Amino acid sequence: MVGVDGLLPLPWIESVLRRTLQSQHAHALLLHGPQGIGQFELALTIAQAWLCEAADTPARPCGVCASCRLVQAHSHPDLLVLLPEALQEPLGWAAADSDDGGSERASKAKQPSKEIKVEAVRAAVNFAQTTSARGRAKVVVLHPAERMNGVSANTLLKTLEEPPGVARFVLSCAAPDALLPTIRSRCQGVALALPPTEQAGEWLAAQGVADPAVLLAAAGGQPQEALDWARQGIAAAAWLRLPALVAQGSAAGFGTWPLARVVDALQKLCHDAACVAAGAAPRYFPAESVRAGADPAALHAWMRELNRVARHAEHPWNAGLMAESLVQQGQRALAIVGAKGRAPRNTSVHSGA
Ligand SMILES: [Zn+2]
Repeated sequence: MVGVDGLLPLPWIESVLRRTLQSQHAHALLLHGPQGIGQFELALTIAQAWLCEAADTPARPCGVCASCRLVQAHSHPDLLVLLPEALQEPLGWAAADSDDGGSERASKAKQPSKEIKVEAVRAAVNFAQTTSARGRAKVVVLHPAERMNGVSANTLLKTLEEPPGVARFVLSCAAPDALLPTIRSRCQGVALALPPTEQAGEWLAAQGVADPAVLLAAAGGQPQEALDWARQGIAAAAWLRLPALVAQGSAAGFGTWPLARVVDALQKLCHDAACVAAGAAPRYFPAESVRAGADPAALHAWMRELNRVARHAEHPWNAGLMAESLVQQGQRALAIVGAKGRAPRNTSVHSGA
């Protein structure tokens, strides 16, 4: 069986889907939990079930009725999928008419927005107020809800408070705290958790990912994220080599990774080194690849710098130079305290020489 998006279905969302469809009858749902586990697919499947014409309250969408087929073809007149521009293509929902007059080349040159803009929310509100074409519902899927700014969220709020007729909403988000409390309180919450490691590993293996356990841990247990990495050519073996390379001051392990991904990997390495330094188990790298004995204060300073760069990921850094600089700081931070031949610190100068 193929999921709504044409990929292998995500087995861990099946039970949530069933439970949600059976127990949640609110006009607005808020799916919340970690990213990379299929929030969008779940939201879309719930929408498809609400619109499915095979049964009155289906436990899952039938997948074959006219309505299900329209959802699968992205052309259901009663479904509106609201995504930031930057997510439309990756999620396979690029709008054919989003090009407002400019050439395709021009629209590619400008950075797609990562926000859900107020104009799009207004259009969704208008959509929800129109009559249902096929008579079952009008459904708006909004993902991820934390990408709405204050103005967008307030525009949606009025409609969530007094939903017109048959309108229903599925919002998903990874950071519910980033939402207006009033948005949260108007929705029924559906909590999602990371899937069991074994199930996620089996799913990755079925997609052809080699050594899935390593990439799954690297991606913090988020299988879709791990699959993304594998598809971008990041192999488990390369991930396993990173700690040793960084400890040697080499950025060679990152190849042509974008800076944001390099920073993410270094943050994870720093996190794991801090865990090991405190006597805890690492999370993203296998225990044998992270050396104990680093100076917690140096790791803390490295993490602060990594967080600073991560916050400005859109800044036009020279990615190569920035990666080198972060790795060199990492080499110093990972140096084993008291070990001979450790990398020198570049700023502190001891007098008396
Ligand atoms: Zn159906």
